[in-house]
Amino acid sequence: MIWNLEMETMPRSRLAEVQLRLLQHQVRRVYERVPLYRQKFDDAGVRPDQIRSLEDLARVPFTRKSDFRDTYPFGLFAIPVDQTVRIHASSGTTGKPTVVGYTANDIRVWAEVCARSLAASGAQPGDVFQNAYGYGLFTGGLGMHYGAELLGLVVVPASGGNTERQIMLLADFGAKIIACTPSYALTLAEALAARGIRPGQLPLRYGVLGAEPWTEAMRDEIEEKLGITAINIYGLTEVMGPGVSNECVEEKNGAHVFEDHFLVEVVDPETGEPLPSGTMGELVFTTLTREALPVIRYRTGDIAALNVGPCRCGRTFTRMSRVMGRTDDMLIIRGINVYPSQVEAALVGLPELSPHYQLVVTRERTLDELEIKIEVSEGFAGEAPARLDLAARCREKLRGVLGLTANVTLVASGSLPRSEGGKLRRVEDRRKL
Ligand code: ADP
Ligand code: ZN
Repeated sequence: MIWNLEMETMPRSRLAEVQLRLLQHQVRRVYERVPLYRQKFDDAGVRPDQIRSLEDLARVPFTRKSDFRDTYPFGLFAIPVDQTVRIHASSGTTGKPTVVGYTANDIRVWAEVCARSLAASGAQPGDVFQNAYGYGLFTGGLGMHYGAELLGLVVVPASGGNTERQIMLLADFGAKIIACTPSYALTLAEALAARGIRPGQLPLRYGVLGAEPWTEAMRDEIEEKLGITAINIYGLTEVMGPGVSNECVEEKNGAHVFEDHFLVEVVDPETGEPLPSGTMGELVFTTLTREALPVIRYRTGDIAALNVGPCRCGRTFTRMSRVMGRTDDMLIIRGINVYPSQVEAALVGLPELSPHYQLVVTRERTLDELEIKIEVSEGFAGEAPARLDLAARCREKLRGVLGLTANVTLVASGSLPRSEGGKLRRVEDRRKL
């Protein structure tokens, strides 16, 4: 179902007109109201009235996470704090949390894009929706909550964690849709299996999963083990929260960016030069309608590619590929760039393995060592020779994909850390210690 037919299916030429008008207004606004933006524009020799086309955006300086930290907590706000109705903060995966604010209208827009996301994921008014994203400063819980209410869902505000209770609620209240991180969806799947509950026995049909990188292999696993259709949702606190983009259930191939609110670019992470559609690079967002905290050309650190081609669902908004990783959680091992998600991609199709793995990086004097711990699947009862053979095959496959040799350690099913409700850390970089 398309929640906002008029906006989500508008011709791209019309969209460009809408975007340009909003962009010009937004750029003028931040220049007048936010000292940091005025300073950046002046330093770059750019005046707001020089933005005459969408291409002119490339002249505007970037905003980075460090700009949030330097102006902590409210220095990037474009309105006095007493005119906001809510404050959120990012989960601080990569350092001190960044603080964001919302006006009443910002909350309405956010609910709109989350309603669109849920509708695109298969939700229909009247469906029971278990919201297992964390409520609190983290944007996931409350963001989805307001969107779900707007769409007319019956919201079960379960929040993250407490697997025992999640399962009870799923069974007793009969949610048809759940929202949580993909790693937590696997935790739930395993917990259900451990209780002898088979996929399909519960009314659950759709998962709206995001907030951390995941892969097609993981999607298959989740869909099979939970008996659901798993949909990718993307968002980030600095830009809004969840609902910046969302896959459609018709194609499940790239997440439609809600471009009437978020202008998206992909740039070369090294040079900052805009890259053409279809090329992998760093996602950069400009908010077009946000009042309290507009961001201009925000460097996300997320690596992905755009696809502006038409989609079977009828939406005209561009689709972003899965996020390959973050520029800042990209590991550089012996000079080679490694994204944790590549490990997963390399090991697809080995039935002896579970989807759980962990990367441990150490440094012996000057040489980096990468150890990849992989859990064998529950049924795998291989003796020493079979284990050796399996480890060797993993090493080979990983070498092909990563371009370096890693030490593979097979560990028992269930022994690696699981998501306890939030984002899962898959990397342990011991080199800094
Ligand atoms: P933090 O950057 O502290 O984790 P957020 O909670 O705002 O703060 O998380 C936003 C980040 O989470 C994004 O920049 C991206 O790296 C990641 N993320 C969110 N959704 C997805 C998704 N569907 N796929 C991959 N990564 C995602
Ligand atoms: Zn689509």
